[in-house]
Parts: sequence; structure tokens; C-alpha cells
Amino acid sequence: MSSAGDKAAAQGRVILPGATIGILGGGQLGRMMANAGSAMGYRFVALDPTPDAPTGQVAQQIVAAYDNREAARELAQRSDVITYEFENVDAGVAAMLMEESYVPQGSELLYTTQHRLREKRAIEAAGVKVAPYAEVRSVDELREAVGRFGLPCVLKTATGGYDGKGQWVIHSADEIDEAFETLKRAGVDLVLEQFIRFSKELSVIAARSTQGEIRTFPAAENIHVDNILHLSIVPARIDEALQREAERLAARIAEGLGAVGLIAVELFLTEDGELLVNELAPRPHNSGHYTMEACRTSQFEQHVRAICGLPLGDTSLLTPVVMVNVLGEHVEPLLDLVAKPDASAERRGVAPKIHLYGKHEAKHKRKMGHVNVLAANVDEALAWISETNIWRV
Ligand code: AMP
Repeated sequence: MSSAGDKAAAQGRVILPGATIGILGGGQLGRMMANAGSAMGYRFVALDPTPDAPTGQVAQQIVAAYDNREAARELAQRSDVITYEFENVDAGVAAMLMEESYVPQGSELLYTTQHRLREKRAIEAAGVKVAPYAEVRSVDELREAVGRFGLPCVLKTATGGYDGKGQWVIHSADEIDEAFETLKRAGVDLVLEQFIRFSKELSVIAARSTQGEIRTFPAAENIHVDNILHLSIVPARIDEALQREAERLAARIAEGLGAVGLIAVELFLTEDGELLVNELAPRPHNSGHYTMEACRTSQFEQHVRAICGLPLGDTSLLTPVVMVNVLGEHVEPLLDLVAKPDASAERRGVAPKIHLYGKHEAKHKRKMGHVNVLAANVDEALAWISETNIWRV
């Protein structure tokens, strides 16, 4: 590309089916993106260090480290447009890809969402509330902030945490020194949050296309076990005005942050009925997997549409659904179940749709797949899940 002007003009370009989409990362999100996009006629190539990665089984794969510049350059050369399926993209690689290829999502949203403090400030700038928080640079600042927020409260590393890692729930003032010393060892900024007594955890996935069009998916009610997503229940068991409000907040964040592609917004519904944003993910999200069979357009098709500049798809819910995650320990019992006629599903009129990601090692707690349980209502889906005895919690 010859000039900055050319680059700006290219931001809204339309990439038609037949073109090749490059994905940084080759996990399950890339796999499901490639499956949805291949159905539309796109080709896919993924960069991932693990041979025969989940995406590599359904697309072409370049086997190399994510921060390998040569491999990233090859990805750029083989792709008409580039996206990513995880957020910790190396800043140098992102800059190089932007220079050598077309990355409609840019790097700004990644930069913002890679750091909890930057993310919270951006959400507030978009006019949406987050849980009260404070930047914590010393143990004295921590003590002061704990005094302000009261106990319990949650100390988090600003970068690098996921599934509850890099967090310490401080229950008593005696823990302050140890919590600070332990998390500070990671050598990154720390943030203290007030502990939110939520009645539910919700999420909304919004899409914004390169043309500026925005659509949101129905809010999911999420249940975590050991900090890992266990269930997404849709429709969420909250009143419709709150469902719409959650969608409106997500759309406002997508607009305010100038997102392109998908942005997942995780929210707390407080006991007082207030919606506060917990965190964002600038990519397809586990809590949006329910859309694969339950919505007119899946989150993965929507992401492809958004980055390729196509009109966004209708996000209407076709059926109530509960998504249940399949972790390493659930794979064997699930495979036993799928091989036999399922009397419980027949009786309850539910259709369990099985998705497995092709990962080689079924390690304990590792996300191996999910099941979208389609039903006449979410209670029947939840009853089926409990009757299988696979997910005993
Ligand atoms: P996170 O990594 O920030 O998504 O946190 C993981 C989980 O910890 C959340 O899904 C919540 O269940 C819980 N959590 C995180 N922050 C808070 C908070 N400020 N108040 C109460 N619970 C929290």
C-alpha cells in the first residue's frame, strides 16, 4: 500500500467469498470461524505452533510460533485479510501484519483490551459503568483502596490473567501484604476491584463491521465453575427490559471503542438490578457458542461478515438453548452417551448438538468441546444436562 490515505480507504473494503482469510491462532475459535466461513466460500490459513491444531484440521496451517516474524510474513502473503482468535497478540507482529497486509480490526482495540486499566477507562469513556476500581502501585495504595471499597475485594493483575488466574480475593486485612507480594511477582500493573455481589453474570456479543454497522446477539446468562465457564443459558432468566439494556450497553461499547469484528462484553447484574461491565474480549467468545444452532446467524459467521465488510446477519434467537462446556474429564462419558439412543433427550424433546474441537490431549479442565442443548425451554435443557450425569458439580 502506497500511502496512509490508501490505507484509510482500504478499511471499508469488501472481501468477497473466494478470498483467503488468515487467522493468527489455530484453536477452537479459529476452527469454528473457518467452518462458518468455508461454508460461505472463503478459504482459511491459520498460524499456530501446535501441529494439527484444531483450526489446522479444517484449514491450511503454518506451523510456527505466534511471534515468529517470518511465519507472520508468510501468513500475510497468503491472506487477503487477517484476523486473530486470541487477544494476546504480540505487538510487533501486529504492527508488521498491518504494514504488509489488511488487518481491518487494527491493533488499537487489542492494545486497550490487553490491559484491565486501559479497558476500564475506555468502557467508562463510552458511557458504561464498571465495578469501582483503583490502580494499585504499592502496598500502601492497596491498603488505602481496600479501606475505601471495604472487604472483600478482588486484586487482579492488569495483564495476562484468564479463567480466574492472576486474581486474589482479599477477605481480611491480614491478607493485604501477601496478596500484593504474590501478584506483584508477575511484574505487571495491579488493579483492585470492589467485590460485586451479583445476582447473575451475563454476556452480550456485539459485532461491528468495517462499514460501521452494529448488531448484538441475545444476552447469555453464564454460570462458572472453578472460574471456568460451565453453562450459557439463553434467553437469560432476567426480564426483557434488562436483556435489551445489556444489548444496548454492548452496542455502545462496540461503537465507543470503534471495534471491528466481534467484541464480547461480560457483565455483572448486581443485587440492586444494575449492570456493570466486568471485562471485554475482542474476538468470538465461549459464551457465544450457543449462537451456532440457536441463532439465525452464528457469532462466527457474523465475525467473518464484519471483517469482510458484508452486511451483518440477523441475530434473532430461533430456540431456547443451554450451552454446556465439555472439559477433558467430560469427553469419555460424552462419547459413551452419543453412541447410544438417548431416551432422556427423546422424552424431553431436546436436541443436544455436539461440538468437539479435535484437541489431542483430553487434559483435566481443558476445554475440549461444547454441547448446545436446543429445547422448548431452558428448564428442559438444564434437566437433560443434569440427567446425563456427565457434568456433576
Ligand atoms: P475475570 O477474569 O475478571 O473475568 O474474573 C473471573 C470471575 O471471577 C468472574 O467471572 C466472576 O465470577 C469473579 N469476579 C471477578 N471480578 C469480580 C468482582 N469484582 N466481584 C465479584 N466477583 C468477581
